[in-house]
Amino acid sequence: MKTWMRRTGAGLSLAGALAAGTPAAWSQPMGLPSLGAASSAELSPAVERTLGQAIMEQGRQDPTYISDLDINQYLTTLGRRLAEHAPQALAQEVTVFAVRDPSINAFALPGGYIGIHSGLVVGAQSESELAGVLAHEIGHVMQRHIARGITQQSQGTGIMVASLIGALLAALAGQGDLAMGVATFGQAAAIDRQLGFSRGAEQEADRAGLQMMRQAGFDPQGMVAMFRRLMNAARLNEGTGGGYASTHPLSIQRLSDIENRIEGQPAAAATPDPEFWFVRAHLALIQARDHADRQRLQQTLRTEARDLRGARQAAALYGLASLHRTEGDLAGARAQLAQAQSVQPAPQLDMLAIKLAEAQGPAAAVEVSAAAWKRWPGSQGVAEGRARALQQAGQDEAAAAFLQAAARQWPDTPDFQKLLAASLQRLGREVEAHEAMASYFEQTGALPTAVEHLQQARSLSKDFYAQSRLDMRIRALRERLDTQRALLEPFRKQ
Ligand SMILES: [Zn+2]
Repeated sequence: MKTWMRRTGAGLSLAGALAAGTPAAWSQPMGLPSLGAASSAELSPAVERTLGQAIMEQGRQDPTYISDLDINQYLTTLGRRLAEHAPQALAQEVTVFAVRDPSINAFALPGGYIGIHSGLVVGAQSESELAGVLAHEIGHVMQRHIARGITQQSQGTGIMVASLIGALLAALAGQGDLAMGVATFGQAAAIDRQLGFSRGAEQEADRAGLQMMRQAGFDPQGMVAMFRRLMNAARLNEGTGGGYASTHPLSIQRLSDIENRIEGQPAAAATPDPEFWFVRAHLALIQARDHADRQRLQQTLRTEARDLRGARQAAALYGLASLHRTEGDLAGARAQLAQAQSVQPAPQLDMLAIKLAEAQGPAAAVEVSAAAWKRWPGSQGVAEGRARALQQAGQDEAAAAFLQAAARQWPDTPDFQKLLAASLQRLGREVEAHEAMASYFEQTGALPTAVEHLQQARSLSKDFYAQSRLDMRIRALRERLDTQRALLEPFRKQ
C-alpha cells in the first residue's frame, strides 16, 4: 500500500500513525462512518487480525515489500522463537516481513504483523541486535499496544479505523474496493505528526523483550547495542523528523533502565544462527539500487571476505558472487560461490547455485535444485527455486506434485499455492488451478476473492465428488465471511 511506507521524512510506521494520530492534523474526510458505541471498546484479537490481513493484502503490492521467501522465513522463525518465551501468551501469531528501506526502523501492525526495514538488518552487527528490536516489537504485540492505540488514542485515529472498517465491510459484501479504503486510510496515515507510543508502553515492551531475549538464548547486550545505534541514527536524522525514534521514543532513562536490568546477569551462551549473516547480505544486495550503491557494497564485502572467517566470510563471498552475477560475470560468480560453499554451507548459497545453473539450461537447473532440496528440506527459498526450475524445464507435472507437498508443509505461506496454480493451469487442470488460487486468497485473508475462485471451480467441475468438496469449502468460507462481518459491524454504527 502507499500507506505504511509513504515517506514523511522518516520511516513512517502505520502502527505508529494508527496509535498516534493528532486530531488537529486531520481534516475529516467526507462520507466516512464515525465510530459508534464500540469506539471505546478494545479491538478484539479477531477484528485486529482482520485489519492486519487487509493492510498486508495491500502491503504486499507495495514496491518496497520484500517478497523473498528465505528472508521472511528467517525473520518469522526468529520472531516466533522469541514470542515462545513471552511473559504472557500472545493473542496473535507473529509474522515478520522485510521492507526495502535503508533507514534503521521496525514497526508493528495490527494482527501480529511486524515489518523490519532492510537497513535495520544490514546495520545490525550481530543476530542479538536484530533480536533486540524484534523482541521489543513483540513486546508491543503482547501488550496489545497497537489494538489499544487504535481505539483509545485519538479521534483522528478512530476516523481512520472506521474508514478502513467501512471499506472492509463493503469488500466483504462484494461491493467495494478495499484498495480505495486503504488508500484513504493511507493518506490519513501519511500525516507525519506522530506522538509515538507512550514512555510507559516503551518500558513495558523493553522489559518483555529483554525477558524473551534471555530465555530464547540471545545476549541481552544486543538490545543495548541496538538501542545506542538507534539513538545515534535519531541524532543524525534530526531535522528530517524521526525514524524509529518518532514512534518509539528513545531516552537516556530508557537506555539505563535496560542496562540496569541486565547488569550482573550472566551473558547468554547463545549459538547464533549462521543464516543471519546470509540474510543480512541478501538484504544488503536488495537495498543496493544503482551501480554506485553496488560499488560501495562490493568494497565492503571484499574487505569482509578478506578479514572475517566462518559464516560472516561465507556471507560476504555470497554477496560478491551475487554482484558478479548481476554484472553478468557468471564465471566470477561461480568462483566466489564455490569458495563460499567451502567455508560454510547455507540455503542462500544453493539458491544462487540454482540461478547460476539456469544459464546452462533448464536441465542443469533441475539437477542442481534437486541436490539443493535434498540438503535444505526446511528452506522455503530453496523449495521455490526447485519449483521454478521444474516449471522452466516444462516439468509441470513434477512441479505440481512438489508444490502440493510444499503447500502442505507451509500452510501459511501463500506463495506456493500461487506457483501451484500456474502449473495446474498449464496442465489444463482448471478446477484444481482455481482451487489453488482460492487457497492462495484464503491464506492472504481475501475471502471474497477466494469464494469467487471456488465458484468458478464449481462451475467447471464435472465430477460429483469434487463438486461436493467445493460446496463444502464455499459454505465454510461464507460462514467465515459472515463471522467477520458480524465482528466488524459494531465498529461502524452511528
Ligand atoms: Zn516501541
